[in-house]
Amino acid sequence: MTRSNSSSVVSESLQLARATIRDIVPYPTERTPCEADLSDNTNLFGAPPAALRELANSGREDITRYPGLHTRQLRDALAEYAGVRPEQVVTGCGSDDVIDSAVRAFAEPGELLAYSDPTFSMIPVFAKVNGLVPTPVSFTSSLDIDPDALLATNARVIYICSPNNPTGTLPSREAVDRVIERAPGIVILDEAYGEFTDAGRIAEGPAHERLLVTRTLSKAFGMAGFRIGYGTGAASLIKDIERVRGPYKENAPGERAAAAALREDVGWMRDMAALAVDNRERLAAALRAHGFHPYPSAANFILVPVQHAAKVALLMRQRGVAVRPYLGLRGIGDTLRITIGPWPMMELALKALVVARDTVDRGSNVAANATT
Ligand code: PMP
Repeated sequence: MTRSNSSSVVSESLQLARATIRDIVPYPTERTPCEADLSDNTNLFGAPPAALRELANSGREDITRYPGLHTRQLRDALAEYAGVRPEQVVTGCGSDDVIDSAVRAFAEPGELLAYSDPTFSMIPVFAKVNGLVPTPVSFTSSLDIDPDALLATNARVIYICSPNNPTGTLPSREAVDRVIERAPGIVILDEAYGEFTDAGRIAEGPAHERLLVTRTLSKAFGMAGFRIGYGTGAASLIKDIERVRGPYKENAPGERAAAAALREDVGWMRDMAALAVDNRERLAAALRAHGFHPYPSAANFILVPVQHAAKVALLMRQRGVAVRPYLGLRGIGDTLRITIGPWPMMELALKALVVARDTVDRGSNVAANATT
């Protein structure tokens, strides 16, 4: 190939990118609207009223100046909500940013990042981009984390997702404690969906010198567009993360609005989370009645094993319902992850899923008959 063929050929032949990142597929962020977008686990019930009000009140300085005017308010409000001191809170551009910064702060290139697989898809990416070796281990047969398998890796960073994305399952407290007590390096306990359970440990971050508990305002709090996440831990650990995170990761209108929502709308958030939990159980029962076997979920989504998940998701999309297909998950196989929302959306999703599954089944039967 010559350089003049196309720019993509040029970069391919020069191979400028680091070898370890060449196979990373960029996270898909662009979306086309559809009737029921149940693909990203955001709050489909709405946005906190105080955040909407404060966003409307944002002024010129929120746009022309670097953020900072509301940073202190946000950190104080998060600390109060989490039940820790402000110096025990680190914020970031989503909890993505907090996790990524923590990986960078606590492990040298070449060291290991261990996690139970399957989990949040960005974790191996954060490992690779920071020069670490992603080290997946299996869940137990009951989908609990396997503490001894995680510890046996001797990884500098152990990541635990609770409730876990995409399974929705909750690791046991004993298993998490065992990891925290014995880990050689840092433990990141990702509670992005912590508001949907009573089992959250956000207040405990500072109690263990090796623990960072992360949360987000993107899910139960209904503010994914602001990109604000945070973590709690011992003050010295928080400082280490801030050292590598870089400045101005949150935006000013978001800081102002999120601080107001944390002060005024925790009750609203809890009501919305309770609605999601009710609808999740209702949907799970309806799915079982249609012959599906969803995993027990402690989050605002539900994972449903289906054959040919990509095809089923495509057919559902044609009926106006977007869900997230996962192909060949370790120990699980093909599945769809469905975000829980208001009941009319759930009815739409159920109908689309049943029709899509039946269509795919019919297609497989026809193909099987043709070959027998
Ligand atoms: N952790 C988990 C388990 C997630 O599912 C997500 C978002 N999909 C995140 C972290 C990151 O969320 P955010 O950056 O919006 O806080």
